[in-house]
Order: sequence, then structure tokens, then C-alpha cells
Amino acid sequence: MTPTPNRLVDSFGRVHNNLRISVTDRCNIRCTYCMPESVRFLPRGELLTFEEIERFVRIAATLGIDKVRLTGGEPLVRREIPALVARLAAVPGIKDVGLTTNGILLAPIARDLFDAGLRRINVSLDTMDPARFRELTRRDGWEQVIEGILAAKAAGFDPVKINAIAIKGVTDDDVVPLGRFAREHGLELRFIEYMPLDAGNLWERDKVLLAAEILDRLAEGIGPLAPSPDQDPRAPAMDYDYLDGVGRVGLIASVSRPFCGSCNRVRLTADGKLRNCLFALDETDLRPLLRQNEPDDEALARALLDSVAGKWEGHEINTARFIKPERLMHSIGG
Ligand code: SAM
Ligand code: SF4
Repeated sequence: MTPTPNRLVDSFGRVHNNLRISVTDRCNIRCTYCMPESVRFLPRGELLTFEEIERFVRIAATLGIDKVRLTGGEPLVRREIPALVARLAAVPGIKDVGLTTNGILLAPIARDLFDAGLRRINVSLDTMDPARFRELTRRDGWEQVIEGILAAKAAGFDPVKINAIAIKGVTDDDVVPLGRFAREHGLELRFIEYMPLDAGNLWERDKVLLAAEILDRLAEGIGPLAPSPDQDPRAPAMDYDYLDGVGRVGLIASVSRPFCGSCNRVRLTADGKLRNCLFALDETDLRPLLRQNEPDDEALARALLDSVAGKWEGHEINTARFIKPERLMHSIGG
């Protein structure tokens, strides 16, 4: 029998060390670019339990996964998330547990999350205007998000990163106010180009507010920026520093400058499907392996290795060959 390899390498030589775990497909708001207004959520029994998630992370860690990020839907609607953070932070080999949240439920548990071992937190905030927040998310909650961000800072998260979506004709005027808020509070602001994973099939290439346009707006409204000297060329975000030394902005240009060539990520959905790309059309169902009477760790490791080995070169958003996956963003997690 061939021995099981101990690294997650695909046929393009990309080594995978980063696992994003969606803990629920539910959400307490309805961002128009992510979710439809009414959704049939997964029945609770179909969600992986914390035990099942931890078991999988233990196996993944033996294959080189050392970074984990919890996402959703909205991860904080799942109760006891700090307990999951603590479990995952204690897995041998896991160096870093992060979380991406819309921030609405964050303020009361920011400290518990920090104490549980979470160190990296990203809060999504697209606008500084509560009325615009309501338009974009079909719900109220802007004030709670701001409270959540400030509570995360006070709890010791440093940096707190803010994710803002960049949609042309929609969020253009939000760029500069977000930039000012981030500078004022020492937050790292990152703009994410709008991607074709939206519910309404509204995405068009022309609706992407491009990284270059965002930089122009910030330069005009706040001050000039230059590429950060300590840039990691493999990271999805291109970082820029304000020339006056106050603050940094990241641009995640998934559409205008795809970073597939250095991708190191795999994703686990809330119902236990493994996805080797955000835009993957195929998934590997791990739940039966996790739920059989005696879970077979070897088979789970093999499934992860095979999924990574079979990864394609990259998404083809910029070509006529692109096929939109059936899963929407809220059930992948970003
Ligand atoms: N609910 C959490 C939140 O909003 O941060 C976690 C899940 S959400 C799907 C993760 C990230 O995906 C958010 O920052 C959100 O703005 C981003 N996102 C959602 N739909 C998107 C789209 N169509 N294009 C680009 N980013 C998107
Ligand atoms: Fe919910 Fe996050 Fe999607 Fe907004 S982006 S609907 S907060 S999952």
C-alpha cells in the first residue's frame, strides 16, 4: 500500500495550509449581494457538530493545515462559538484561528472570543450610513456593528480588520467615509471586489468597483497611498499605506487581479462538504464519513488529499468559460 502523503499539494504545486469552515448557512441580515430575502436554511441536524468539526480539523492539521477561519452565514448566530474557538485553538498544529462576522452579535462576546484564543477577527461593514446599511442588508443593525467593532478593539484584537464590498454604482460613495472611520479608530480596512456568487444573478463585470478606482477615491478624499513595503506577494490582499503613516488599506482584487496562482485554501461547508475552491462546481461529502459509527480518520484524510490533488488551476471569471456555482456566498462563507 502506498503511504499517505502528509502535505496537501495540488498538481500545480500549491501547498494548502488554510481551512475556512462555515459553521452555519443562517444569517441575521440579508445582504443583497450575498443572499436572497427568503431562504430555506439547512435543518439543524444537517449541520456538523462541534465534535465533528474538531475531528476534521485534527486530521487536517496532520496534513499541514495550520490556519483556520470560522465563517457562515453568520457564525455568531451559532451559540457557543467561543467553545468551538477554544477547541480548535487547542488542536496540535493549529497556529491561528480567525473569524469573519457581520458584527451584529459581536459586542457582548468579543472578550469571550479573545479569551477562547481567537486572535484574528474580520468584521464586514460596507457603509457608514445607517440608512444605506438597511438598503444593502435589508435589515437594521448598523449601530450594533459599530459597537461590535469597538468592543473587539477594546477586547484586545489588533488589528481588527474591516471587510467592505466594492460594487460600482452602489458602494462608491461609501469608500471615503469608511476610510476615515478606519483611520480614526486604527482599523485595517479591506475592500473586496464584488464576485459572481450573489443570489439574484445580478453580478456583471461592469459592476465591480475596481481596486484602482478605490485607490483613486481614497487618494482624493483622504490622502495619497503607496504599496506597503512589507507586502506578502502570496496574500490575497494588496496592501497600501497612507503616505502620512496613518493607516493601511487592503484591496482584494479577486476579479481584476485573481490570486489563484498562490491559493492555499480549502473550505468546509456547514453541512460537511469539502470545496477546494470558492468557485468549485464539485464537492466532496465528508459528513457520511464523520457520522459513521466509527469515523474512519484514514478515509477522511484521503478525501482531503484527493480533493486538493484534484484542484483546478483557477476560477475563470474573466472568460466566457466561467460557470457560476450553485451554492451562494452565504452557504460557502467567502
Ligand atoms: N456573515 C459573515 C460576514 O458577513 O462577514 C461571514 C460570511 S460572509 C459570506 C463573508 C464575506 O463575504 C463578507 O465580508 C461579505 O461581504 C463577502 N461577500 C458576500 N457576498 C459577496 C460577493 N458576492 N462578492 C464579494 N464578497 C462577498
Ligand atoms: Fe449574512 Fe455575511 Fe451574507 Fe451579509 S455577507 S448576508 S452578513 S452571510
